[in-house]
Amino acid sequence: MNRFENQIAIVTGAGRGIGESIAKSFAAGGGKVACVSRSDSAAKVAEAINATHPGAARAYCVDVANKKAVEEVGAQIFADFGKVDILVNNAGITRDGLAMRMSEEDWDAVLDTNLKGAFNFIQAVMRPMIKQRSGRIINISSVAGLMGNAGQANYAASKAGLLGLTKTLARELAGRGITVNAVAPGFIKTDMTDVLPEAIKTGVLSQIPMGRFGEPEDIAAAVTFLASAAAKYVTGQTLTVDGGMVMA
Ligand code: NDP
Repeated sequence: MNRFENQIAIVTGAGRGIGESIAKSFAAGGGKVACVSRSDSAAKVAEAINATHPGAARAYCVDVANKKAVEEVGAQIFADFGKVDILVNNAGITRDGLAMRMSEEDWDAVLDTNLKGAFNFIQAVMRPMIKQRSGRIINISSVAGLMGNAGQANYAASKAGLLGLTKTLARELAGRGITVNAVAPGFIKTDMTDVLPEAIKTGVLSQIPMGRFGEPEDIAAAVTFLASAAAKYVTGQTLTVDGGMVMA
């Protein structure tokens, strides 16, 4: 099914985990993808995508927290692809610790990457999207941003911040044909969660009605729905994909 034919998507944090799965899903749907990561991981993903979908992917190495560098990469992406239809702000990090002991550095690193990084990329694509009077922006939040999580003051604040950003931009851009939505994953099996102690994993599992962790593909399916023509009347929403962990 070529539902993303002639569509150009940027996926940040596409080097691994959820972002890799999202990038591959766009390519599988006939779209082209700018795969962004901090290291050379996105280059490997782009290579894998091009092996099955020749010419569908290009990799860009940038720290999303660096506004100037993101502006430059954004300009390069427009030069390479000619336009951008879809932006998925997925790059994210954790620096967990109880608030009482959390360093300024850990607070700043998480807010700068998860929240400011998303805003940086939004600003890099916004004007051309407004001009073309169409676009899809999807921000990857977290259930931690909906319900809080002890030991993640920085992370939960950044993810809750993304929801405020999503709703505000949805209002600002609705009249320009651009939808802005968020996806809030629960516990998904990736490098980010792999490092957590078994006791924490067991505790989380007991809160999931479906009794299992999610896969990156579960999030990619939600993102591609929101990016697709089928979601044209959906904006300012948060789609929670968590096996029933949080029910509004
Ligand atoms: P991973 O740690 O597996 O991958 C994170 C990706 O983000 C990597 O490709 C990494 O690049 C990239 N990245 C991190 N920091 C930067 C930066 N400063 N600039 C550019 N790229 C960066 O994470 P997941 O796949 O698990 O998570 C993806 C998103 O989903 C995150 O926003 C996360 O918060 C969110 N999420 C994840 C959940 C989970 O259970 N896994 C639950 C809820 C939300 P590189 O490969 O170069 O290091």
